[in-house]
Amino acid sequence: MSQRKLSMVAIALALAVGAGYAAPGLHHADGAKPGATAQRAGVNGARIRNADQEPGNWMSHGRTYSEQRFSPLKQINDRNIGGLGLAWYYDLDTRRGQEATPLVVDGVMYFTTAWSKVVALEAASGKRLWAYDPKVPPEWAINACCDVVNRGVAIWDGKVFVGTLDGRLVALDAATGKPVWETLTIDRKFRYTITGAPRVVKGKVLIGNGGAEMGVRGYVSAYDAETGKLVWRFYTVPGDPSKPFESSILEKAAKTWSGEWWKYGGGGTVWDSIVYDPDLDLLYIGVGNGSPWDRRVRSPQGGDNLFLASIVALKPDTGEYVWHYQESPGDSWDYTSSQQIIVADIPIGGQVRKVLLHAPKNGFFYVLDRKSGELISATPYTNINWATGVDMKTGRPIETPIARYPGSDPAPIIPGPGGAHNWQPMSYSPLTGLVYIPEQDTGFKYKAVEHFEPKSLGFNTATDAVAAGLPQDPNIKKAILASVKGHLVAWDPVRQKQVWEVERPAAWNGGILTTAGNLVFQGTAGGNFEAYRADTGEKLWSAPAQTGVMAGPMTYTVKGEQYVAVLAGWGGALPLIAGEVALKSGKMPNLGRMLVFKLGGKASLPPAHMEQPVLHPPASTATPATIHKGEQLFQSYCSNCHGDVAVSGGVLPDLRYSGMLDDEMWYGIVLGGMLKQAGMVSFAKELSREDAETIRAYVIFRANQSLAETK
Ligand code: CA
Repeated sequence: MSQRKLSMVAIALALAVGAGYAAPGLHHADGAKPGATAQRAGVNGARIRNADQEPGNWMSHGRTYSEQRFSPLKQINDRNIGGLGLAWYYDLDTRRGQEATPLVVDGVMYFTTAWSKVVALEAASGKRLWAYDPKVPPEWAINACCDVVNRGVAIWDGKVFVGTLDGRLVALDAATGKPVWETLTIDRKFRYTITGAPRVVKGKVLIGNGGAEMGVRGYVSAYDAETGKLVWRFYTVPGDPSKPFESSILEKAAKTWSGEWWKYGGGGTVWDSIVYDPDLDLLYIGVGNGSPWDRRVRSPQGGDNLFLASIVALKPDTGEYVWHYQESPGDSWDYTSSQQIIVADIPIGGQVRKVLLHAPKNGFFYVLDRKSGELISATPYTNINWATGVDMKTGRPIETPIARYPGSDPAPIIPGPGGAHNWQPMSYSPLTGLVYIPEQDTGFKYKAVEHFEPKSLGFNTATDAVAAGLPQDPNIKKAILASVKGHLVAWDPVRQKQVWEVERPAAWNGGILTTAGNLVFQGTAGGNFEAYRADTGEKLWSAPAQTGVMAGPMTYTVKGEQYVAVLAGWGGALPLIAGEVALKSGKMPNLGRMLVFKLGGKASLPPAHMEQPVLHPPASTATPATIHKGEQLFQSYCSNCHGDVAVSGGVLPDLRYSGMLDDEMWYGIVLGGMLKQAGMVSFAKELSREDAETIRAYVIFRANQSLAETK
C-alpha cells in the first residue's frame, strides 16, 4: 500500500469516528472561574414531581415528568433577549449527529454525545468535571438506522444512566463518572440499538431500543436503578404463537396479525418517548413502525398489527397493559408513534381535562384523554395525502386510495418515513396554551418490491429503494427539492388550529424550548440558534451555530444567573440517508459543540472553515446495465449511510469524492473490512466481488454526472 493510500485510510478513519481533528474541551472568553465540583446529584421522584419549585435545575429529559419542555425561568425574556450572547462553548470529539438534551442538577451539566459518550461540565463555566466513553464497537454502527446518536442521560439518587448504541444500560457515579453497574438489554443476535434517553420512575430505569428497519421485535424494559436488575419487560408486538405469549394482552394482539410476522421481527420499537404521569400513576410509551414497512410482507392477510404505531399506557410498577390508541393501524409507511408525548391539563368543552398531546410522523395532531386513551380530537398539523381525516367514531384514519401504494408505479405519499415531525422535541407553553412543533414537509415514493428477502446488513423495508431515489432530471429534481421545507408551527391544541408559523428553507430543524419569558428557542438546519416571541412568532434573536442544530435546547440557572444551552452538530436519519435533500441549507462544517448563552455573554466562536473537495473521478466506462445493477445495490446497501443516489448529506464520506474509485483498495474496504474501526464493516456476507464492482461503476457514473453538472 502506498503512503498516499495509507494516509487516505487514516483520514477516512478520522473523519468517520471523528477522532483527532480538534482538541475537545472548553472555550470561554469571560473569565469564568472554576467553582462547582462534581456533585452527588440527589435527584428523586419527589424532586422531579416538584421541579417547578427549583426551576434553575433541569433534572429529567423533558425537564418535568410532563415533558412539556417549558421553563418557568424569565430572567431572559422578550424584552432583553437582544443582550443574549455566548457564555461558553465546549467542543466535542465526534463529528456525528448530536441529539441530546443536557440535564443540569445543582450547577453541573450532564449530557451525551454521538457514540453514547457522557460528559459532565460545570454548568456556569463549561469546565470539564469528567467524561465517560462506553467504547461502543465502531462496527455496531451498521445496525443503527439513523446515525450513532444519543438523546441524553437520566439522573437518579447519585447515578447517571446512559443507554449505549450497542444495547447496554450503564449506571455511572454522578460524582466521578465511574461505572457502578452495566447490563445488556438486548440479544446481540439481533440488530438492536439504543439512542433514546432513559427515564427513571419510582426507582426503575426505563429504556427501549431501535431497529425496526433491521428486523427486530420491540420492547421496553424496567431495571432497578440501584442494582441494574431487570424488573419487567413489555413487548410491543406478539412473538411466535407456537410459544407461550409473554402476557395475555399479546395473545389478543396476535389476532390483529396474520401470516408469519414473527419471522420478520415485526418492529414496534420504543426508541424515544417514555413518559410518566404521576397524577394517574401511568406510563405512556410511543411505539414505532412495522418491520418490514410494507404490511403485505409481514402480515399478508392484513390486520391492524397491534401495538405498532400506537401510544400504549402501562403500569410503571409491573409493566402491565392498561390501554392503547393506535394512530396508524396496519402501518405501511414507517409512521412511528415514538415521537415525544406531552402530558398536560387543558380546558376542553368547559372543563379541564387530563390529556396527552402528540404529533407523530403521520401528520395528525392528537389530543387523547390520558386516563382512558379516548380520542378527543385529531387534525392534520401539516399537508398530508395518505388520509383525509380521522373518523371520530372509530378513531381510525380515513385512508386515501394511494395510501397502500397498490400499483406498480411509485406512490408519492406525504409525509414520508422522515415524518412530518420526528424525534426533535416539541414544547407546550401553559402560558400561551400553544404547542410549538418542529414540523417538516418531506414526502416519499413508496413502491412494493417484487420479492422480499431479508438482508443481514442494511435496511429491510420491503420498499423499492431505487424508485424512492431522487431523480436526476434537472426539472423534476428542482421541483422535489423545492417542496422539502420545514416550519416552526405554533399550534392551539384546544381549537386544533395553527396560530402562527415560521417557514424554514430546509427540513430537519431543531427541537423546541419555551420559557415564561414569552420565548421560543429553536436551532436550524441552516446553522443558527434563534428565538421568537411565543405569543406572536415575531423573530427576536439569532446567533450563528456554524453547523446544523437538531437537538432540543434547555435552560437553567447557576447562582441566580439564567443560561440557555443547545447541543450543535449535524447528523441523524435525514442527513445520513436523504442525500441532496439534507443539503438544502448548503454545505456546512459539521461541528459537535455544546453552546451556552447568557445575558451579556461575550464569548465568540472561532472562524469555521469549510473544506471544498474537488471531484476527480476516473472515466465512466461501464455499460448501462452494469450501472443500473450498481444503482440497485447502492440504494439497497450503501445509501442508508452514504446518502441517496451517492450524495452524502454532510455526515459520512461522500463516495463520489473517494480516492479509492480507481483502486484495488475499494474491495479491501467494501469486502475486506479494512475500515471496520471507522464503522465501515465488510459486506462480504451479502455482496460478491462482482457486486462491489458494479457499485463502484455506479459511483463513478454518478461522480461524472455530478462533475458535468458543475460545468
Ligand atoms: Ca423507523
